[in-house]
Amino acid sequence: MLDFDTCNEARLRKDPAYDGVFFTAVKTTRIYCRPVCPAPQPKTANIAFYPSAAACEDKGYRPCLRCRPETAPFSPAWNGTKTTVERAMRLINDGALDDTDTESFAGRLGLGARQLSRLFQKHLGTTPGQAAKTARVQRAKRLLDETALPMTEIAYKAGFKSLRRFNTVFKETYRRPPTEIKRRSLR
Ligand SMILES: [Zn+2]
Repeated sequence: MLDFDTCNEARLRKDPAYDGVFFTAVKTTRIYCRPVCPAPQPKTANIAFYPSAAACEDKGYRPCLRCRPETAPFSPAWNGTKTTVERAMRLINDGALDDTDTESFAGRLGLGARQLSRLFQKHLGTTPGQAAKTARVQRAKRLLDETALPMTEIAYKAGFKSLRRFNTVFKETYRRPPTEIKRRSLR
């Protein structure tokens, strides 16, 4: 993870090169943002930086409705191509951890579950399970904003087992029901 000052300077100048590299969590509002957020800049004393959207949600922050963290590119802060974590995140974003447990998922990558969890903690500041949960909610949010599909279809397409489960997890993440987001994006 990058150091505080590097992240802080990048978010103060809204640097697009850092989009997806880190997320800014605002302690006073309990919202997290991309570095390029158009909203007024929070005070430096009130923020913390995390290497992934999942890490912010893990800590109880909700995604900003203006900069839409679910649309940030996947730009990990570490060097080196084709790392295991990158591959794992691509698979998770495609839903690979929605129907299986961390153990079998790790096996698919040639690792043990504990090894995979350690890698996730180190590079993304969260667990594979939370990353998969965030990925499901993000898929649902994009479908809510970009399509006119009915709620049930959005829930299943995003990888939720039931509409009820989708409603619960979505509300937990966004602090409002998916119907409210839909009304908002239709305006
Ligand atoms: Zn924002």
